[in-house]
Amino acid sequence: MSSESLRIVWIYPDLLSTYGDRGNALILARRARQRGMPVEVLEVRSDERLPATADIYLVGGGEDGPQALGAQRLLADGGLHRAVAQGSVVFGVCAGYQLLGTSFFAKGVQCRGLELLDLYSDRGESRAVGELAGEIDPRLGLPPLTGFENHGGRTHLGPEVSPLARVTAGVGNDSATEGAWRGKLLGTYSHGPALARNPALADLLLRWATGAHQLPPLDDTWSDRLRNERRSAVAAARA
Ligand code: GLN
Repeated sequence: MSSESLRIVWIYPDLLSTYGDRGNALILARRARQRGMPVEVLEVRSDERLPATADIYLVGGGEDGPQALGAQRLLADGGLHRAVAQGSVVFGVCAGYQLLGTSFFAKGVQCRGLELLDLYSDRGESRAVGELAGEIDPRLGLPPLTGFENHGGRTHLGPEVSPLARVTAGVGNDSATEGAWRGKLLGTYSHGPALARNPALADLLLRWATGAHQLPPLDDTWSDRLRNERRSAVAAARA
């Protein structure tokens, strides 16, 4: 951690925040505070400079136009690149995941990404909309991923990133893999918001940010209920 409190930046709430992705900041802050960590959540709009010294950066989903604009502003700002070079954690969702790669398509135009992850996105034949589920890379030691996806893009991973999960329902990157991670950077197509539906993933980001090997367990009765409900809905839809 870079200062007394855990600093979480929610990047461009005015552009990148579909399907309640703001909930990811709320969940991280709550789970950190429940462990006694002081937390600061900074909401940085697209007309503001991005501080480069925060611990965790969240980039949410967005429609094509805001996604392209968000990527341009982040490239021009340079703060996220400096933060990554200093070891900050980055969590990107959908548009926020695609723009961490080398390029993506928005409104039929190929746009430059931030080149922080070795991947690129093109367009699929149809939109991927619905429940998304997968078995997460065993090296991360997390329970199955659950989420909601809504995207036209398909993502292709290069050799320098690992898939976050193997898809068991939905599309994710390409119907086989979902999301990607490298070091302390992680992206997913999962909305929901993702960290409400996958609190163990929130705790992974907190561990990466604090360097803690383990965090005290929390009462996850409600999130377990939500996870079980969504996972049985997926199973019922397949039966
Ligand atoms: N605009 C992107 C796509 O459709 C991302 C959408 C999203 O963030 N939900 O692929």
